[in-house]
Amino acid sequence: MRWTDFPKWGRWMADWAAGYHAGLRDRPVRARSTPGAVLAALPAHAPEAPEPMEQVIADFESLVVPGITHWQHPRFFAYFPSNASPAAVLADTLIAAMSPQCMLWQTSPAATEMETRMMEWLRDAIALPESFHGVIQDSASSATLAAVLVMRERALNWAGNQQGLSAHAPVRIYCSGEVHTSVDRAIWVAGIGSDNLRRIPTQGPTRAMDPAALRAAIAEDRAAGLIPAGIIGSTGGTSTGGSDDIAALADIAEAEGLFLHVDAAWAGSAMICEEFRPLWAGVERADSVVFNPHKWLGVQFDCSAHFIRSPEDLTRTLAYRPEFLKTHGADGIINYSEWSVPLGRRFRALKLWFLLRAYGLEALRAMIRNHVTWSQALCEGLRSEADFTIVTEPVLSLFTFRYTPEGADDLDALNQRLVQAINDDGRIYLTQTQVADGIALRFQAGQWDCTEADVILAGEVIREIARGL
Ligand SMILES: *Cc1c(COP(=O)(O)O)cnc(C)c1O
Repeated sequence: MRWTDFPKWGRWMADWAAGYHAGLRDRPVRARSTPGAVLAALPAHAPEAPEPMEQVIADFESLVVPGITHWQHPRFFAYFPSNASPAAVLADTLIAAMSPQCMLWQTSPAATEMETRMMEWLRDAIALPESFHGVIQDSASSATLAAVLVMRERALNWAGNQQGLSAHAPVRIYCSGEVHTSVDRAIWVAGIGSDNLRRIPTQGPTRAMDPAALRAAIAEDRAAGLIPAGIIGSTGGTSTGGSDDIAALADIAEAEGLFLHVDAAWAGSAMICEEFRPLWAGVERADSVVFNPHKWLGVQFDCSAHFIRSPEDLTRTLAYRPEFLKTHGADGIINYSEWSVPLGRRFRALKLWFLLRAYGLEALRAMIRNHVTWSQALCEGLRSEADFTIVTEPVLSLFTFRYTPEGADDLDALNQRLVQAINDDGRIYLTQTQVADGIALRFQAGQWDCTEADVILAGEVIREIARGL
């Protein structure tokens, strides 16, 4: 295939994409592949000679598409959404056509300067103060790793990168049990060690860290000669939406001189709506905040918005300037690769620019408000049924429930069977989580094309399959 053939296949691709989206409701949401089936269908070795594109595409349709779990299906209610709006997909296609490597300002000034402006647009849209500066990381996991590395370096007087950690007393970081596994992995990768991640007990309906317990843990660690470095707060945790009292955490972080990072990977998109902002009240006092436009907002993976109050702390931790990366004679420019762990970076800001201009904030707010309203209506519907129990109350558009018919003995096994049966049925897709009582089913509405009718149908499917078990 040559660039002269590209228009033909590009047109085919555009038609295929539109048709795929139009027909998604007729497909089962979760892939029905059996383990190893796709692998077995792929030849063991690469071809030595070119194959016709017609054949490649025929195999794509027959082999690949049935093995896809359709995250863009309007009845995808599992995990969190991973939305791809058509405008952002178009931008990604343009980015792929140019495929710039945007590590430094001079390697594509438009990518750097648009990233600066898009992060300002987003910062203002979620009402963070102007004291925050934004960078697009590839994932919330990377943003949290960067924040943990800053916590570590700050606490070690910027000596950890050079001396390693063995020269110092252990660095301590504090969070609840509601945080995402990316926090655990950041602690491992940063060399801090999971023994030095202190889990603070939670309290109340939002499963927030107990501030008194946090203060006591910090005091105990200091007394033991350890080095408290930072606090990781959660807004809209992955399991059940667990959310810390960010203002209370900021009080403690300020009093103790600790760095406060807030992970709002999913919930942050909802902060474009003023009425949801009480969920993270106090966030303006955090040192670092991450949210994923690649979840709920409509910019397909990857695009994680990382806001930081002191970019100097970030570059002091992560910037490395060998001669070949120096940009002589370009003063006052930003090299965003110095703000993140990977050197190479894609032109992600273009996706945001297309999204925000093609739809405008008001339409995005309306989408998120609808998801929250419809999901909460479904929650009330299930609550009113004698054989269902709401386990955790809605946080935005996420709640958890259990099927609890009278006389059932092993509710965990029953609910595990329920989620399996629902997903095998294929009309909707849900995932389960572990809560204090056992297994609960999560429900979140958030897919870009999801309608009220899709959520109502989800309620019908849940009742029908549960009662038919
Ligand atoms: C999804 C999620 C993450 C991880 O996001 P990636 O961008 O995939 O790394 C982290 N924290 C929370 C709360 C999440 O929901």
